[in-house]
Amino acid sequence: MRLIRLRIYRVLDITKKDTLMRIKRLTAWQPVCEGAPQDWRNTLGQILVEVELSTGTIGLGVGGGGNAGIHVIESVLSECLLHNAYDHPTEAHAAMVAHTSFYGRKGIVPMAISGVDLAIWDAFAKEQNLSVFALLSDEEPPEFLPMYQTVFDDHEASAAVEDGKQAVKLHVERYGDKPDPAEIKSLVRATRDKLGTGKSIMLDAFGRWNVETTLEIARDIAEFDIDWIEEPVGPEALEDYTFLNANSPIPIAGGEHEYLKEGFEDLAARRAVSVFQPDINWCGGLTTLIDIYKIAAEHGIRVVPHRGSEPYSLPAIAALDPAPLAESARSWFTAIRGIAKPTRDGAKLNDGPGFGVSVARST
Ligand SMILES: [Mg+2]
Repeated sequence: MRLIRLRIYRVLDITKKDTLMRIKRLTAWQPVCEGAPQDWRNTLGQILVEVELSTGTIGLGVGGGGNAGIHVIESVLSECLLHNAYDHPTEAHAAMVAHTSFYGRKGIVPMAISGVDLAIWDAFAKEQNLSVFALLSDEEPPEFLPMYQTVFDDHEASAAVEDGKQAVKLHVERYGDKPDPAEIKSLVRATRDKLGTGKSIMLDAFGRWNVETTLEIARDIAEFDIDWIEEPVGPEALEDYTFLNANSPIPIAGGEHEYLKEGFEDLAARRAVSVFQPDINWCGGLTTLIDIYKIAAEHGIRVVPHRGSEPYSLPAIAALDPAPLAESARSWFTAIRGIAKPTRDGAKLNDGPGFGVSVARST
């Protein structure tokens, strides 16, 4: 763990540039993606962000918050960043967080900051003709990274494993707020029977349960060797997380809806989860994800980013994670090109400078 922390600090040193980045233009828009879920993930959904440096280099990021996120970028983040100069993306990130600190510690503002931060990292890497992975590591990139697939039943689980996935996560939101534990147990048993002992199984409750339900189900299914129960309760119920993480026979995962390093420092200090699951497009971008890896290393917490096989998280997972595992991507997010298709061997890093992505023509 200590080695990892040192490596991250060193990485930030070697990525220092001699010349400052001056930000000339910041543009954000919401792409149309056929097949996007008709809920907040669409109405407050993924936005594309372009940053143009005074050298003409353009960086592309993906953030969140829909039109509200775009407003944040066009108003306060533009006011903060435009025509200012930074020698590292982390400095621009610190400026954005400080500028929005009275109203922007969680939710839509960090979602918007994420898109800008990722666009700045993309431009910063392109200025040096390096991939983001090469900014974060001086080692050879791994050829493939192990993946897990989010599935809805035991049939999908065995198909995912036949397709080369290392692990599966059963999404059990459809069983509701008060599921019948016997039904969950029979789903988990059927999945373990099909997968055998060599593959990991996890559960995602999507924040729908309470403490009693979680403990009852955890005790019921512990015999099936489950890696984690994800978001058993809502993200605001931090005392419940701490209680569950101390008392559940299965590790508790969370953080998919947590923001900025302060949010993850709080989770760590409370021992609220055993697995962090930050979403790089929401939580504060790559700068925040690097901070999260440092916090995790200090507290012995595992990091498994939400949708980790998409191109923005994958370089950090490859460079910084001692036990890399990348979650399957969204099939409906068609706004960017350059999403390397996973193979039977796992997720593949993009080649090329920056994050290796570009805007899809249809947007
Ligand atoms: Mg989840």
